[in-house]
Amino acid sequence: MAAGAFLAALAGSAAASAAECPRKEALGTSRVLSVDAKATPRVGLKSFPQTLPLADREVVLTFDDGPNPPTTSKVLAALAQECARATFFLIGLHAAAHPDMVKRIAREGHTIGHHTWSHPFMARIPFEKARAEIDRGIAADEMALNGVSTTTPSTPFFRFPYFEATQAELDLLQSRGIVVFGADLWASDWNEITPAQELKLITERLAAAGKGIILFHDPKARTAAIMPAFLRYLRENGYRLVHVVPGR
Ligand SMILES: [Zn+2]
Repeated sequence: MAAGAFLAALAGSAAASAAECPRKEALGTSRVLSVDAKATPRVGLKSFPQTLPLADREVVLTFDDGPNPPTTSKVLAALAQECARATFFLIGLHAAAHPDMVKRIAREGHTIGHHTWSHPFMARIPFEKARAEIDRGIAADEMALNGVSTTTPSTPFFRFPYFEATQAELDLLQSRGIVVFGADLWASDWNEITPAQELKLITERLAAAGKGIILFHDPKARTAAIMPAFLRYLRENGYRLVHVVPGR
């Protein structure tokens, strides 16, 4: 098969199944998990009592606050090298500025979730303003992705900036069938730490937790820098990647 046709086939099957990886030694993506707001409206133990039904050593990779082309492209390259599928929670402002990068994330088989228009503290603004942040963010992401401005997300996954939400905002998302993603563990990559420190921190936290939804930030250079080594760590230590997609 020609390379172009192969890539097209890969993109076409991306949402349906964990695609075949041409490199047998790669980490790969072990399974696809459909996530539905009816069954699991909110997931992530850092904020909520429940999380995704992951087995021991299963990991879901998530990246917030992009796209930011210089670093996001490095993260995408590291993921592609290991045939690893992740979820990117985009800031609408950034999606509007970099629509080609949004399309590339989707084309490479990753899931695109939403992370507001401008990343405010959502519990410190009036409800109507918060609703507008949610809708404008989704519309910007959808416009970048599909060229259609709609507040109905093609992937109904949302993450609150700073994991800060009011009950009314949580209720609004639930009423719209949008899953709210927290996280089970994180790399603390917003702190001024070196890549080596970040890698040590996240691998130690993962070893302690054994599994979970991991939060990274693809605009952070330190995170882009450690991604090849972190994915290699997962592979060499028997972790398996789970790719989350919308329920049907
Ligand atoms: Zn964020």
